[in-house]
Amino acid sequence: MLIWRRLLLIVTILLGAPHAVLSQESAPAPNAAQPSGPRDLRIVTRVLPPLVVEREGSVSGFSIELWNEIASRLGVRSQYQIAPDIGSLLASVRGAKADVGVGAISVTSVREAEFDFSQPIMSAGLQIMVRGQGKDSSSNPLSDLFSLLFSWTSLAWLSIAAMLILVPAHVVWLLERRHPEGIIPTQRYIPGIYYALYWAAGTLATQAENAPKNWLARIFAVLWMFTGLVFVALYTAQLAATLTVQQISGGINGPEDLAGKRVATTRGSTAATAVRGLQAQVVEVGSLREAYDALRQKDVDAVVFDSPVLLYYAANEGKGQVSMVGAPFRREDYGFLFARGNPLRSEVNVALLKLREDGTYARIYDRWFGTK
Ligand code: GLU
Repeated sequence: MLIWRRLLLIVTILLGAPHAVLSQESAPAPNAAQPSGPRDLRIVTRVLPPLVVEREGSVSGFSIELWNEIASRLGVRSQYQIAPDIGSLLASVRGAKADVGVGAISVTSVREAEFDFSQPIMSAGLQIMVRGQGKDSSSNPLSDLFSLLFSWTSLAWLSIAAMLILVPAHVVWLLERRHPEGIIPTQRYIPGIYYALYWAAGTLATQAENAPKNWLARIFAVLWMFTGLVFVALYTAQLAATLTVQQISGGINGPEDLAGKRVATTRGSTAATAVRGLQAQVVEVGSLREAYDALRQKDVDAVVFDSPVLLYYAANEGKGQVSMVGAPFRREDYGFLFARGNPLRSEVNVALLKLREDGTYARIYDRWFGTK
C-alpha cells in the first residue's frame, strides 16, 4: 500500500512539476507524534538567500531550516522543488502539485483571498539597493548638474524666483515711476515694468546695479535685498545637498525618486507591484541573481526587493559594490503557503508557535540573521 502511494507520488512529481526537484528529507524525530496528515510532503520553494540557499543540490536557509524543524516534529518528510518565479510557486500550490510553499512568501490580501497562510514566520519589508559603495563612481558632475537643472526641484525654485521678481517689481514700479531721476524713466506700465523687473531680478541675485530714488521704494528695496540674500543662501544649500545625494545614490534617495528609473525585481513579486505603483520602469527577472547582475552591469538604476534578502547580499557577496538606500518602505510578513482548507496548516501553526516558545526559532533566526 505504502509502496503504491510512493510510486504515485513520484509519478505526479515527475509529470506535474516543471521545477527542479531536490530530494532532501528531514527524517522524522524518533519520538515524534504520529501525524494525521500525509507522511511525504512536496514543498515548493524559491532560492532567496538567506531564507532559501541552494548549495550542491540541496537547500538550506532560514525558512528551510524552520520548515525542516516543523516537519521533523510533525513526522513528515519533505521533497523540495524550486520554482522559477513566485507565480509558478503559487501555481504549484494552487494546482496541488505541491503541498506547501516555503520561502519568502509575502502575505498579501490577494493571496490570502485564494490561499491559506501559516502564522507569520518573519516580518520583512521592501527596500531599495543601488550600485556603489556609498559614493556612485559612475556619477559625473557635469551630467549631475545638467539633470539637476532640468529637474522638478529646479522648476519649484524657478517658480519661487519668479514670484520674488514679479511682486517687488510691481511695488517698485508703483512707488518709483514718478521720481524724475528714478530707475524707471517712464510712467507707462510698458515699458516701465521692464525696468522694474530688471531691477528686481538683479536684486534677487544680490547684484543690484542701482537703487530706487523714492524713499519708500528705497526702504522696500533694502528689505527686498535681504529677502534675496536668504533666497540665494537657501538655493545654494539645496543645490549642494541635491548634488551630494545624486553622487551618493545616483539621485535615488527613497521610493519617491524611483519614478522614471529602471528598477529590477523578481517577476510577480510584491516588489514588482509596488515599483510599478511608483511609476518606475520595472525590469522583471526570474531569479534575484539576474537582478543583481543587471545592477552591476548598469542595465538598471536600482533593485527593489525584500529587505532581509537585499541586506544579506549587501553584507556578503555584494559588499563594497552595492549599498542600501533608506529604510524599508513597505512592511510585509512572510508565511508558509497552503491550499485553501489544508488541515496541515493548523498542525504547522501549533509546531511553529512551539518553536517560538522553546527558543528553537530564535536559534535558527540567529544562525541566519544574527551578527556574528
Ligand atoms: N516576497 C516576495 C513575494 O512574496 C518574493 C518574491 C519571489 O519569490 O521572487 O512576492
